[in-house]
Amino acid sequence: MPFSQPAVIRSRRAVLPAGERPADVLVRDGRIEQVAAHGSLVVGDSELVDLGDTALLPGLVDTHVHVNEPGRTEWEGFATATRAAAAGGVTTIIDMPLNSIPPTTTVDGLAVKRKTAEGQAWVDLGFWGGAVPGNVADLEPLHRAGVFGFKSFLAPSGVDEFPHVEAAALEAALAEQARIGALAIIHAEDPAVLAAAPQQPGVHYRDFLASRPSGAETAAVAHLLRTARRTGARVHILHVSSAAVLPLLRRAREDGVRVTAETCPHYLTLAAEQVPDGDTAFKCCPPIRDEANRDALWQALADGEFIAVVSDHSPSTPDLKLLPEYGGSGDFAAAWGGIASLQLGLPAVWTEARRRGHTLADVVRWMSAGPAELVGLSGTKGAIEAGRDADLVAFDPDGEFSVHAGELHHRNPVTPYAGRTLTGAVRTTWLRGRAVDTGAEPFGRQLTRPADSRPDNAS
Ligand SMILES: [Zn+2]
Repeated sequence: MPFSQPAVIRSRRAVLPAGERPADVLVRDGRIEQVAAHGSLVVGDSELVDLGDTALLPGLVDTHVHVNEPGRTEWEGFATATRAAAAGGVTTIIDMPLNSIPPTTTVDGLAVKRKTAEGQAWVDLGFWGGAVPGNVADLEPLHRAGVFGFKSFLAPSGVDEFPHVEAAALEAALAEQARIGALAIIHAEDPAVLAAAPQQPGVHYRDFLASRPSGAETAAVAHLLRTARRTGARVHILHVSSAAVLPLLRRAREDGVRVTAETCPHYLTLAAEQVPDGDTAFKCCPPIRDEANRDALWQALADGEFIAVVSDHSPSTPDLKLLPEYGGSGDFAAAWGGIASLQLGLPAVWTEARRRGHTLADVVRWMSAGPAELVGLSGTKGAIEAGRDADLVAFDPDGEFSVHAGELHHRNPVTPYAGRTLTGAVRTTWLRGRAVDTGAEPFGRQLTRPADSRPDNAS
């Protein structure tokens, strides 16, 4: 139901930049026109949506989503991923440059992505580029074409068409990104540490965990930070799973290195001790670690050391996950590594955040304002504030539900949250002032990196 006229959305629990409070939000022409005291706006000809005690949040911004279309659409496609996003209160996603074919490492590859996504997106959608060996000359054209930055892997990515960068290629990519003012986003695991780790295939999660040790993350991050310092590039560490990298980031920041980091709902809400034998829905790289590490990640989050909590939604078909219930071997070493959770990130994080004494305002900072800031979208996304897009979510903070993988909008019915009871239910998602109705036509827009985040020397 699009608002054909201005609308007032009223909630006793609106999560504003200043915190949670009762408020009226006036929406007109897809934007937030005014935020006022609860009950104070004269409704007149406007439509009134009174949410009562249901919370009103800014739409989430998920800067780490693997859509995989074209090329591996059977893993996840634009239509299914963005439906899942909308159902989970996510109104903006930024798509990763790999697992689709072609990868987004050239302007032509970006054009294929954009054309494929046309008419399929239920939420707003932007694209990351990829920095791989040999494509330094492609980075500036991709940057001008509006990608939000460039992803590189320091260890094998899992797909042949997106190779990782060794030291010289990383140096070249970061030097070029420093020159053009791009944001480098990095999968940080060290291939030598991984190669030296014990490799014991099988259904036991502890063997998989031993094959991807915390030291692989710290070694890779240390190497990256040295290169970032030398080149002056702005770097962002993707999906930090090991809390042991945090002191390295702190020291580098004190030294003037421009570095941010993110973590993911699965590292904050799941733990190695709980992973059943053979349940490869839990496999991702870097891996979900132990409970003590999870507590340390929460402490870091509370201390403001992560700019964002984003999904790293990276599904595959159940057969590639080797799931026993689909006749697979349950071998953690051979299964596809990736967690499907785009629709569940908000309730998963909220369930655990609330238990630990955090507020909805905290969750909004981690999952909406922070990621919007990371990618330069704070002018339009990430807050309930006059002038921004009316991307809004009606969220019942007390609504409980149990997760049935087959009922999610993700293409494949696989998620490690299956069978869990989560607290926090998305009731309605508005994208630029219109309620998203996945039975109707999609009206998501394709986003480019905003001009004001483009450096002068790249214009
Ligand atoms: Zn990823």
